[in-house]
Amino acid sequence: MNDADLTEEQKNYLHGFVAGSGVLQLLPTFAGTLGLSLHGAGIGSASASGAAAAATLTCPEAIHFQAQDQQTAAGGKLVPEEVAKRKRFPLDQWDDLARHAAEGRFPKGTDVLAFKYQGLFYVAPAQDAYMCRLRFAGGILPSFQLRRVADIAESWGGGYADVTTRSNLQVRQIKAQDAVRVVEALHEAGIVNRGSGADNIRNITGCPTAGIDPQELYDTRPLSQQMHHYILNHREMYGLPRKFNIAFDGGGTISAVEDTNDIGFSAVRVGEGKIDADGKPVAPGVYFRMALGGITGHQDFARDSGLLLTADECVPVAAAVVRVFIAEGDRTDRKKARLKYVLDRWGHAKFIVETERLMPAPLRRLGLEQCEPRLPVDKHGHIGFHPQSPAGFWYVGVTLPVGRMRVDQMRGLADIADRHGSGSIRLTVWQNLLISDIPAERIDAVKAEIETLGLGYSATSVRAGLVACTGAAGCKYAAAHTKQHAMEAAAYLEPRLKLDAAVNIHFTGCHHSCAQHYMGDLGMLGTQVEVGDDLVEGYHVFVGGGYGAEQGVGREVFHGVPATDVPLLFERILRSYLEHRNAPDQTFREFIRRHSSEQLALLFEEPAVTS
Ligand code: SF4
Repeated sequence: MNDADLTEEQKNYLHGFVAGSGVLQLLPTFAGTLGLSLHGAGIGSASASGAAAAATLTCPEAIHFQAQDQQTAAGGKLVPEEVAKRKRFPLDQWDDLARHAAEGRFPKGTDVLAFKYQGLFYVAPAQDAYMCRLRFAGGILPSFQLRRVADIAESWGGGYADVTTRSNLQVRQIKAQDAVRVVEALHEAGIVNRGSGADNIRNITGCPTAGIDPQELYDTRPLSQQMHHYILNHREMYGLPRKFNIAFDGGGTISAVEDTNDIGFSAVRVGEGKIDADGKPVAPGVYFRMALGGITGHQDFARDSGLLLTADECVPVAAAVVRVFIAEGDRTDRKKARLKYVLDRWGHAKFIVETERLMPAPLRRLGLEQCEPRLPVDKHGHIGFHPQSPAGFWYVGVTLPVGRMRVDQMRGLADIADRHGSGSIRLTVWQNLLISDIPAERIDAVKAEIETLGLGYSATSVRAGLVACTGAAGCKYAAAHTKQHAMEAAAYLEPRLKLDAAVNIHFTGCHHSCAQHYMGDLGMLGTQVEVGDDLVEGYHVFVGGGYGAEQGVGREVFHGVPATDVPLLFERILRSYLEHRNAPDQTFREFIRRHSSEQLALLFEEPAVTS
């Protein structure tokens, strides 16, 4: 229903609420339920009187409006996205979505943001279509859901799906008229993707080997699921000042890369004889650390909060952190609206105190140095065959070409998981997937079936560590065709160069850094490059980024390299590393850190390219 569907009396009655009565507390939810757009209602231009009104609201999302009012009362001006979110809470725009689908129309203006609350991204001009992003807690899904996604991609999408850098799936090339069918089909398959885009908490990530990793300290699957369902069942967890990422690392052989998240939980072991900050003894065992403020696109990693949490405390504390962020995140400048900027303004100590106020009891503090260090990760443990827990079973990490799977490959992978494993598919932030629980005697059969699908499992290939954001083929922000260039570089390098060490290569199409170029061994940031009179696609080239124990922001060594020159440049860089490292086990990152940027530029200019 919209305003046009109402009688004048109904409009006056509803708009009368807005004029400022105590009944206003019912307004956002009621209006949303009716599908009303309360044009001129006044709450979008929050004022001092609006602040008083919002303070009386009792609907769950009222905490957002109150935060907006505080900022406008302090002289700030809400960005248009905030005004739109307040006019009508986007979770309540289902009727709008249905109307657009019935009329075969894509959204315009701030409705583009609103429809992302249902996981639907209108990606024009890159494609005149929706991309639909899903949600899988911890990136783990059963084979039947992968088949269902394949059906959806075949019926209403482009016949393929992409694994994202948040262990998630995206279906592209969805027509306007098919949008509702796609969301309905997902929900019927148990895939509830609300809030997978826009200013919401994105897919909860975890170690892809959670529950099967012989090294892990804690199986994080239940925590990812609890967090996932907490979000789905709390309206106030939607419509944050900006997007928000949460990850759970269980200490296993494959990292959750949690330090790149707004909240990164990591399992740690505490030994005998530790005393907390209140002088109380800490029982030995496994706990969680919480790091805050990771945002590698802004060249910052999450930093330890000083807290020692039990597993049961993680989800409630995460919810409290989000609530503090809701209250304090910047609603007047989207560039400064992430959690990092609240932490920069307040410092971690104050932020933790404010978080603690929302908890029923004070939280325990223990220095990070009092905990045992994390066991090393296997940087390319997400590729190839590896023994798992219980003994006698294996998992295989399958390489997907920068995350893309055709529908026949999706069905084939689901069949392999059912026939030889436990039917479990585990997506990774490295844009590939694992199939787990394979008996040792089935390994050869699984290898043959993966090859039949045209996919690989080799951990030594360049493709093992290759990730790329959507790029210009499907994203309006992109300066370059990242996936295409990544695949061209791999195709060039693989017959020429055998890597005996894990090197991660990240192609990202713009400063939003969806593929996290700053944390790649080799990081590529898309740009336009002048070549003669022309502007061509190209990249700024960063080296030496890392996460976890290798944490660090990559250094720029080349500026504005045309995309056509990238494969040869990679060959020079990687050959230089293989030839000049000071020991066979020296990692790429260690090699980079031994040299100044000037030395690296000289080394990489050497004519080490084979013909
Ligand atoms: Fe689009 Fe930029 Fe994200 Fe790539 S990094 S998907 S170009 S927004």
